[in-house]
Amino acid sequence: MSLIAAIATPAGQGGIGIVRASGPGALELLRKSFRPRSAGFSDFQPWRLHRGAALDSAGEPLDDVLAVYMPGPKTYTGEDVVEIHCHGGGLVTREILRALLERGARQAGRGEFTRRAFLNGRMDLSQAEAVAELIAAPSREALKYGLNNLEGLLGRKVESAREKLDHLRALACVGLDFPDDEVEGLEAEEFADKAREVREDLGSLLKGRARARAMREGSLVVLAGRVNAGKSSIMNALAGSERALVTDMPGTTRDFLETHIDLDGLPVRLVDTAGLRSDERADPVEKLGIAKSRQLLKEADAIVLVLDGALCGNDAGFAKMPEGPEAEALAAGPPTLVVWNKSDLGKPANFPPKWAPDAILASAATGEKLDLLAARLREILLAGDALAAPEHGLAPNERQAMALEEACRELDMLLVEIGQNMTYDCWAARLDAASAALDDLLGLAGHEELLDRIFSRFCIGK
Ligand code: GDP
Repeated sequence: MSLIAAIATPAGQGGIGIVRASGPGALELLRKSFRPRSAGFSDFQPWRLHRGAALDSAGEPLDDVLAVYMPGPKTYTGEDVVEIHCHGGGLVTREILRALLERGARQAGRGEFTRRAFLNGRMDLSQAEAVAELIAAPSREALKYGLNNLEGLLGRKVESAREKLDHLRALACVGLDFPDDEVEGLEAEEFADKAREVREDLGSLLKGRARARAMREGSLVVLAGRVNAGKSSIMNALAGSERALVTDMPGTTRDFLETHIDLDGLPVRLVDTAGLRSDERADPVEKLGIAKSRQLLKEADAIVLVLDGALCGNDAGFAKMPEGPEAEALAAGPPTLVVWNKSDLGKPANFPPKWAPDAILASAATGEKLDLLAARLREILLAGDALAAPEHGLAPNERQAMALEEACRELDMLLVEIGQNMTYDCWAARLDAASAALDDLLGLAGHEELLDRIFSRFCIGK
């Protein structure tokens, strides 16, 4: 392991910036890159902040800083770690990093500090992933899942299931080696009960999967309706209202206007499709946009269909089932909330119409019923058992869920095979496969490719 260094704080200006290094020779690097302010300073005391000047490679001061030396192995990475806390200017942090690199450290790659923490046994893979999940958490609930995983809750549960599987496997092997003896615990029914218990424990960990995905990635809500119906106005009003706060996550849909809002704790990606209309007279670029809108409508977790109340004001038009683009949005598949906008310009007499009994009569201009719209939207998105909050507060990410599913599948097969009086070696093989899936989850199998994939999603300096 070489000595690595990186800026740990985000780019841009801030109060404080942190540059850190980890690996053999970290203390020596800090000694050369720092001039103490106090005349009484003799050397770095572990875990204490010392004030002084950070020096460039020519020995010239760069900034007035605090520096700390943390000796391994009880550090984040498990190695000797040093940190320089400087002023949070882009140039200051970059110059201090440059000095460390010129003195022999290597620029750290994405997630390399955390990768070392994992490789040095400071955390299991589920904890390492939790670091990235915490950093990216867009909601309080996602934060909670990240923190629980960071504390190793998921890892410990999986570890304990794995130990139970190991024990069962050992029993099956005893049965194989001593076919004529009666071995305690190997009686089919008792064995199946124990395997079933583990299967249920693992299955219960999968319960939070859909909920966690919604809380971590945000649900996709697509605004549909004709140009001028008031989609952008509704989007802005929702983003600005108290129950829906704008979050500063980067947009992920390039072609459409996208806002990230927080619906009472539920993160939502709100996308404005910029007007669905018949594509007969559209030019090629528009056609592409329309095709993408159609795709988004199908992928959405929910659609908000905005109708222009100013146009549908006369009761005859309003009562009629919509045709064209509106009908298309209604038929797209995902649950659709119909919003009759511009209620301030007049209200239809018999609201709601028969074809949309749950429609909301709202006004983006006055804010009327927008609270109801937000609450209804949240209800729609969280409907269904799969999105119930997991009681144990643990929620696997997709990679972990796939490993858990694999282990559950093997255990299901084991239970079937026990019922069919299959031989002990078949039992052992199923238990092996289930354990291997759990090893993958914990990162015990040590596949480089898997680690590359996971840590490439981290930021540099983490
Ligand atoms: P979009 O094309 O569907 O995104 O529609 P916009 O949000 O741009 O709105 C079209 C026009 O309708 C704008 O002039 C808005 O000011 C107006 N508008 C939007 N919502 C309301 C509303 O609730 N009441 C009134 N009176 N006008 C609205």
